[in-house]
Order: sequence, then C-alpha cells, then structure tokens
Amino acid sequence: KVRVRFAPSPTGGLHLGGVRTALFNYLFAKKNNGTFVLRVEDTDQNRFVEGAEQYIVYCLDWCGITPDESPDNPGVYGPYRQSERKPSYRKFAEQLISDGYAYYAFDTPEDLEAKRKEIPNFQYGQATRMQMRNSLTLTISEVEELLAAKTPHVIRIKVPGNEIVHFNDLIRGDVSFETALVDDKVLLKADGMPTYHLAVVVDDKAMEITHAFRGEEWLPSAPVHILLWKYLGWEADMPAWAHLPLILKPDGHGKLSKRDGDRLGFPVYAMNWTDPKTGDITKGFKEMGFMPEAFINMLALLGWNDGTDQELFSLKELEEKFSIERISKAGAKFDFEKAKWYNHEWIKAERAEHLARSVKTELEKAGIEVKDDVFLNTVIDLIKDRCTLLPDFVAQSGYFFAQPSEYDVNSVKPKWTAEKADFFNRFAADLTLSDAVSAEAAFKALAEEKGFKPGELMLPFRIMLVGGKFGPGVFDIAVLLGVAETKARIAKAIA
Ligand code: GLU
Repeated sequence: KVRVRFAPSPTGGLHLGGVRTALFNYLFAKKNNGTFVLRVEDTDQNRFVEGAEQYIVYCLDWCGITPDESPDNPGVYGPYRQSERKPSYRKFAEQLISDGYAYYAFDTPEDLEAKRKEIPNFQYGQATRMQMRNSLTLTISEVEELLAAKTPHVIRIKVPGNEIVHFNDLIRGDVSFETALVDDKVLLKADGMPTYHLAVVVDDKAMEITHAFRGEEWLPSAPVHILLWKYLGWEADMPAWAHLPLILKPDGHGKLSKRDGDRLGFPVYAMNWTDPKTGDITKGFKEMGFMPEAFINMLALLGWNDGTDQELFSLKELEEKFSIERISKAGAKFDFEKAKWYNHEWIKAERAEHLARSVKTELEKAGIEVKDDVFLNTVIDLIKDRCTLLPDFVAQSGYFFAQPSEYDVNSVKPKWTAEKADFFNRFAADLTLSDAVSAEAAFKALAEEKGFKPGELMLPFRIMLVGGKFGPGVFDIAVLLGVAETKARIAKAIA
C-alpha cells in the first residue's frame, strides 16, 4: 500500500517548489490509491515560525490537495508533528551508539568555534573526530561521568571511511556518494530534539512511508539517511527515493529564490505570506488572482509532462496520468508569463458558474455590488476571454454594473458633429435590443439613411456605453445592458 508524505518545516511561507513537492506526492498517492500524509517537521525550535503550519495547511486546501492524514486530521500513525514525537527518537540514537554507529559528543560551542578558526572548512568527521571531545576519544568512565552530570551533549552519526553509498533514485537512477566526503551529522541535539536527519528516518519508518518525493536540494543528505536505515536494521523498509528537479530562475541561471520574485515582481508563494516578525508580505499566486486549478496545472508541468504536447490538465486528469517515469532530471525554468498563460486558458475554459464566486469577490473589492447572479454569469461568459488574472474581470466588466464615470473623449470629440448627435437621438428613440444581430442591422440601416459610414459611429457608441475603446462586441454589450440602460447611457454621453 503506497504511503507518501509531504514533510515541510514550518519556517515561513510555502515556496512554489514546496507546493510542487506536495503536489507530486499527492498525485503519486492518488494514482496508486495510496495515502498522502502531511508531517510537520518542527524539530528546529530556532527556525520555528508562528502561523507557518496553518499557512501550509490552508495552502494545500486552496490548491485542492488536502492530505489524507495530518495534524488536524490524524490517522493511526500520529502524532503528525515531530515536536510531539520527541520521546520516540532518543532510544534509536542510543541504539546506534551501542551498535557502534554513533557517539556522544561533548564539544562546547566554544570548542567548535576554535576548531573552525584553526581548520579552514572544518568538518566534524572522520578526519577530525579523534581530535574532539566525544565518546570515541574519552574513556568509558569519563563519558559516564559527563552523562551523569547532565553535561550538554549531542549524538553524532559515525560515518564510515572510504565506502560508497548507493541508492536507486526513481528519477535519477543509481546515485552514489563517497562517505569520505560526508560529515558526522548531529542526530540528537543538546535539547534532546532529534535533528531532521534522525527524525526523517525514524518517522518514515514509523509511518510506513513507501515513497519519498522531495526537492533535489536534499540529495546531499541522502547518504546519511541511507546509512541510518541500514544501521537501524530497517533497510528492507526504506522508502523509494525520488529527488525532484530544481525550479530555476526565469533565465535558467540558478535556483529560483524568494528574492527573484521581489526583484522581478512575480509571486513565489502559493498565497501571500506575512512574516509575523517584520510584517513584510511576500506575494502569493492566490492574491494576484490565479485560480488554484491553473496554479496546480502550471506546477505539475514544472518538471513533468505526459509525453505529448498537452499542457492543460485538470487535477483529476493529473491524478490519472501522473507517472514518475515522466519526471525530468533537468531543472525546470519558472516563467511567470507562462504561469499567466495557464490562468488565461483556465479562465477561458471554465464555466461562468464556476468563476462567479471569485469574480464577485473581485467586484466587491472594487466596491461593485452584484445583485443578479444570472446577469453576472452572462457578463462573465461575454468577457472571460479578455481576462488573464481574476482582477481583470473588474476592468472588463465594471461598466455592466455602473455607468462609466469617465469617457475617452479625445477619441471622439475631434470628429463629433451635431449630425452625429442627431443620429444617436434617433437611434435611441427607436431602440429595440432583442439580439445583437438585429440591433446591428438597425444601427447600420439608420447610419446609411443618414449618410454615415457605420464605422464612424461604432466607436462613439462604444465609448458611450463603456467609457473607452475596449470590451467585447458593442451590440452584445448593448443587448446585455438592455434598452433602458442603453438609452440612459446615450443620453448621458450626448448631454
Ligand atoms: N523537512 C524537510 C523540508 O523542510 C523535508 C525533507 C524531506 O522530505 O525529507 O523540506
């Protein structure tokens, strides 16, 4: 039975790379009738940020990829926050010590600082561990005394010398590391909390995780995890690893960072994230007016495709088509223009009834009250092809709900004549608007009768109705506005 986990640390907003990791876990679970677990990795108290967990939960909900098991909705593998699992880790660290795979280290921060000064690029590991204060260099009785006196200490893994650690990554194939380059990572900290490295292994085992999808930035940690699985005697239960390709800056040079978003003006988080300490807001896709369907679609294609040219996928379709084989090894460039393209396509394809709630919210934010939902749906259908982000609906539809407050007079004034005013008075007087085609025919017939080319009158008519040179077909607009409102707008504009 497939069980996957998304295991974020609650240290801030959820970067779009994080949401993609969550999405790929979710899709793999759905595809295989498995379980998608949210585990909160909050063992680093220094980096813990208030509110970050709720933010993550809300983000996943907004995206439509709600976990099957989570702190709020626990299954039988709980607790789902590592801080609440604290008592379960120490015994494994101690087991590793008695089996000779780990050791106590009593070095003080000052000791470590001094070593770092003495040795450039100091690494606590095979080359240096015998120079330090730990249970490999102290006698048994010294160690017992120090422990009895509750001397602050950590537990470190003893990485073996000159071995090659191999594993089969589902995306990268065989990956190997020389242990000579791996340092003796801390497993249990002085405060009794495990580090990420110990906790991730103990919990993946305890929660019976079968596949672990995570960002490529975790690849260097993999040898430590593989060794731990082996040293704890759990090798047979180790999840299959899949390290997802990096998300790159728009120009392809380097990993996308939060700063790129600030610099280039695009969101990097799913939703706005307000830093609780500084109050700074980092922009999110949701608030910029993206639809979750489009955001998810865009993310899925950052490093995956179905082998065809198809780019638009619903979540349901992704759940059916997702496959590890089609995840690429190469980094995926993030392109904000392409992200907007997805949103535009989604808006065009979506039924008005489906868009109505979001559009209404946008209109309300702009002070426009929508009283008639049927009317709103008709308006949405008429203008959605012109909208890329949800707030565009305000600019594109505001005139349906209120008379224009400003007119693009410069486009009309220079050629305006009393004869044209006459034309519009006559047109308004006989106005019937049963449909756009007959309204246009009547307009043209009257224009010819009065000796105008209809083209000269179309633009003024449009500006009378909407205020500017934009919008869908002017007769479609008039039909939707209705006879009374169209007449009122002509009268107001001519006056
Ligand atoms: N807690 C790690 C993170 O914040 C999880 C890495 C993993 O999935 O193993 O991304």
